Amino acid sequence: MLILTCPYCGVRADETELSPGGEAHLTRHGPGSSDDDFHGYLFTRENPRGVHFERWRHAYGCGKWFHAARDTMTLEVFGTYPAQTTEPPRDICDAITARHPGWNWRDFS
Ligand SMILES: [Zn+2]
Repeated sequence: MLILTCPYCGVRADETELSPGGEAHLTRHGPGSSDDDFHGYLFTRENPRGVHFERWRHAYGCGKWFHAARDTMTLEVFGTYPAQTTEPPRDICDAITARHPGWNWRDFS
């Protein structure tokens, strides 16, 4: 079972308390963007075997959105952080690098 700690209220919640929101850190493309960029924003998602960044909502708790970094193969959670950040915090990247040497941000393989 997936257990994530809400970075706002501090509750360790299992997945029954949470709602998934898909991939985190998407670049939004709106009016004025190219058709390819808009299509990519709407339909293209990563589905990595390994490190992944996701959006979750503490639906049956404080109700706030947050991001989680985890390994999709092992379910190891590297950390959670507020959804208002544009990239993962340094400590979470360091935790990922410790487990996956050579890993880089936006390197989803
Ligand atoms: Zn919460």
